[in-house]
Amino acid sequence: MLTLTNIKKDYFVGEMTVPALKGVSIEFRDNEFVSVLGPSGCGKTTLLNIIGGLDRYTQGDLVIGGKSTKSFKDRDWDNYRNHSVGFIFQSYNLIPHQTVLANVELALTLSGVSKAQRKKRAADALAKVGLDDQLTKKPNQLSGGQMQRVAIARALVNDPDILLADEPTGALDSETSVQIMELLKEIAKDRLVIMVTHNPELADQYSTRIIRLLDGEVIDDSAPYTHDEEKKENQDTVKKHPSMSFLTALSLSLNNLMTKKARTFLTSFAGSIGIIGIALILSLQSGVDAYIQKVEEETLSSYPVMIEGQGMDLTNMITDLMKKEEESVPEKEDVIYSHNIMTDMLSTMSKGFSKNNLERLKKHIEKTDDFKKYAGEIEYRYSTVMNIYDESGKQINPNTVVSALRGDTDASAESGNNNSMMGASMRQNAEVWNRLFDNTELLKKQYTVLDGNLPKNYDEIVVVVDKNHRISDFTLYSLGLKDSAELEEMVNKFRAGEKIKEPKQTSYSFDEILKLKFKLLINTDYYTENKDGTWSDHSKEDVYVRNNLLKNAIELKVVGILAPKEDAAVDNTYGFVGYQSDLMEHLINKINDSKIVKAQKKQEETDIFTGKPFDAGFDNMNLAQLEGYIAQLPEEQQGEFQGYIMQMQQQGTPEEEIVKTLKDALKKQLNTATLEGNLEKMGVADLNIPSAIYIYPKDFEAKEKITDLINHYNDKAKEENKITYTDYIGLMLSSVTTIINAISYILIAFVSISLNVSSIMIGIITYISVLERTKEIGILRAMGASKRDISRVFNAETLIVGFAAGAIGILLTLLLLIPINAIITAITEISGLAVLPPNGGVVLVLISMLLTFIAGLIPAKIAAKKDPVTALRTE
Ligand code: ADP
Ligand code: MG
Repeated sequence: MLTLTNIKKDYFVGEMTVPALKGVSIEFRDNEFVSVLGPSGCGKTTLLNIIGGLDRYTQGDLVIGGKSTKSFKDRDWDNYRNHSVGFIFQSYNLIPHQTVLANVELALTLSGVSKAQRKKRAADALAKVGLDDQLTKKPNQLSGGQMQRVAIARALVNDPDILLADEPTGALDSETSVQIMELLKEIAKDRLVIMVTHNPELADQYSTRIIRLLDGEVIDDSAPYTHDEEKKENQDTVKKHPSMSFLTALSLSLNNLMTKKARTFLTSFAGSIGIIGIALILSLQSGVDAYIQKVEEETLSSYPVMIEGQGMDLTNMITDLMKKEEESVPEKEDVIYSHNIMTDMLSTMSKGFSKNNLERLKKHIEKTDDFKKYAGEIEYRYSTVMNIYDESGKQINPNTVVSALRGDTDASAESGNNNSMMGASMRQNAEVWNRLFDNTELLKKQYTVLDGNLPKNYDEIVVVVDKNHRISDFTLYSLGLKDSAELEEMVNKFRAGEKIKEPKQTSYSFDEILKLKFKLLINTDYYTENKDGTWSDHSKEDVYVRNNLLKNAIELKVVGILAPKEDAAVDNTYGFVGYQSDLMEHLINKINDSKIVKAQKKQEETDIFTGKPFDAGFDNMNLAQLEGYIAQLPEEQQGEFQGYIMQMQQQGTPEEEIVKTLKDALKKQLNTATLEGNLEKMGVADLNIPSAIYIYPKDFEAKEKITDLINHYNDKAKEENKITYTDYIGLMLSSVTTIINAISYILIAFVSISLNVSSIMIGIITYISVLERTKEIGILRAMGASKRDISRVFNAETLIVGFAAGAIGILLTLLLLIPINAIITAITEISGLAVLPPNGGVVLVLISMLLTFIAGLIPAKIAAKKDPVTALRTE
């Protein structure tokens, strides 16, 4: 039941008020076919729009089913339009990019009918208007009459109480017009149909009531409603609020975008450029990071945390030196100052060095489980020298090859001196005799046994080759497999400026290697006791060694050949001989058990080699006496020690310390025997006091944990027990990572600007789309879509474009990475460096969607605010 009471409608155009309806009162029956006639501009469309809830009246009241609409909210109007009203327009107003079926379905989608129901009902409605064979066509493939019938099907699909038709036959020929009128007449049998028309004949012929309008007023009504007519009970069923699902919005926008494929692609492509930039940087950065981490892990698993008997903190030293350099600003202008470059360095370095109490650290490591948890292997090194001879009786260790290369005459120059600063790591590379990991699992993970087996006994050793099954000539000379005289000759030729022949490659069968045997002597083996109780050294007497000592020496047998696995952490380019830690323990115990060591330990005051007391005469002297002692020394030595004293006095060193330092220096310089010196000469070591502790971390995190543990140990230790060491690799690599990250962030910041530009562009394009789809907005609103539904449609559009931009960006990035990686490989030999991290890709697509979504918010809002009537008028 629909009643208009004194409806007035004014349009405001600038300052002017245009009255379109001037107080219209009509009551409609629930069931009649009303035609509204009148000249153009008299307000027919306005009246229809107001009845349909598409436009708002200025004054008066519209009563629907006995209920005033004065207090209707937007939602109530949307609801009313969706459930109770069907619209038919002169220009059909179908959505061009949707199929016939989809057009009809749309009204049902808005009211939340299930998909299957929707399809069925839409097809039924289309069958009723005789279009059951045109379901999948697009509107522009139909004739005018067919399009109008689609519009009728769409208006009827929700089974509305009221059908409003604004000049439905205005664009049709007379024959088709008649068909449409017949259809409307049929429809009017069980509902209210209000039709605006120009054609009085059609109105006369088909409608049951004719209302004439003129200048916004009713001038004639052929069958006004009289109150004695029986009122049909109007059941005002509460119907669900219409709302468009996001999926519908997506499919609407997707179909719309598909009609403009080229533009959508270009927009997305433009939008993708920023994404490509960021994705490329991200790929490179993460690739480099991963590479650095891989290098870090690989290097670290082979490079232990090295704690030497004498530690040094390089990091502190460098920072100290830099600080000093900054401090030295001259105060007076007419004075010349000294610039202490060298001496500062010396004093800083002397402070940087410190003795590490490894006995205490070893005890700590063995007592707690912490270190064992993170370390694949903890190696205790001892300075005990292994004297190794090849089968011909030639001594090959301590290594003489380095000195041969240098052309040194003194072959023993390389032995001893375990505490030089960079020595440890350098020696590790050049060392031919290396301890194997005790941890067999770790060993098996890193190495393949090419032939033979892993050592089981202390006297069993293995030869370790590189990944390509090679051993460096350095190692071959060092092992006596090649004659080092050959090398010396080459060096001599080189020095003389002669050309050296290119060396030939030599090869060795597994059997040859496995046959190798070496003899091992410990230092104490070289000494024999004389009748007077003193001891003689035979180490330099080759014949004696060969004839008397080597026969009873420990024989080391090569039992296996190992090669690093293909994916093992590092390759050892040099190749080496590996022994087990029991060998070193065996040696140390044997030395400690030897007669000479026992004899020396028994007579602590006496130098067992000479039988004279250790006291050099100056042990109890004070500084003045020492100066006197020095004065008796040969002249060159005198000067040196006197300079020493002067320097220390200038620096304000306390006298006691000067005395102590002097005595130590004197003992060293004058080769005065000491108990410690003698024991060291005999190779005595205490298994509790390693000369170095090497901790091999399980992995990168473990390495950090280990350094943490040492720092923690230091925090608790007394000053003199603190451990100093330098983490070279960590120091180097962490600065590289920092630089790479900094560069990446700067680049990303730049590229982000382009991302913003492309977002703005997408916003503009969405706005254009809003303008283009104005008509569609009107149609949707006429069918009951709310403002929110409209903005949802455009948000869906921007999300699709954002997703496309992101996806295209990622796709192009992946394609671009192929040549980029090829170039990187060509330059650096690192293959597959740049890799886009998968979650990075996903995040970038999401960012792209978010940015375009934000950029589209304003256009979507504009779309939602569009007045449905104006929107429908737009062409
Ligand atoms: P009809 O459908 O009978 O041809 P309309 O209902 O479209 O007439 O228009 C009625 C009057 O209202 C006309 O004078 C028209 O110019 C005016 N009018 C309609 N819509 C607007 C509007 N949006 N703004 C201003 N004037 C309008
Ligand atoms: Mg009109």
